[in-house]
Amino acid sequence: MKATALLVAVATSVPSVYGWGTLGHQTVALLAQQYLLPETISAVQGILNDTTPAYMGRIALWADQFRTTPDGKFSSPFHFIDANVTPPGTCGVAMSDCPEEGCVVSAIANYVSRGGPGLWLDS
Ligand SMILES: [Zn+2]
Repeated sequence: MKATALLVAVATSVPSVYGWGTLGHQTVALLAQQYLLPETISAVQGILNDTTPAYMGRIALWADQFRTTPDGKFSSPFHFIDANVTPPGTCGVAMSDCPEEGCVVSAIANYVSRGGPGLWLDS
């Protein structure tokens, strides 16, 4: 019920300029945040400095907005991966799905190796 109300609130406040891309990004973010562990919620909210109910939905467009800036142009391939899946037979992500220019998986690995927040390494 809570998640449904949150999705409706976001869906009705979506700027039309981004079309379904905005709605898709925010919907995935809001669904994903429902599966976070309490300690992960605290860590993510701390990083984002946002404790509002839609803390992940509110940042879901950042990567797409950043990649359109001169400073962020390099990051364009780093916020997604086109997984080679054929549901329902196979459903998963492999590093072979990551193109040579990079993807979100290689970008996260690179970030963590450079001393990122280490959300997955500190527990
Ligand atoms: Zn995107």
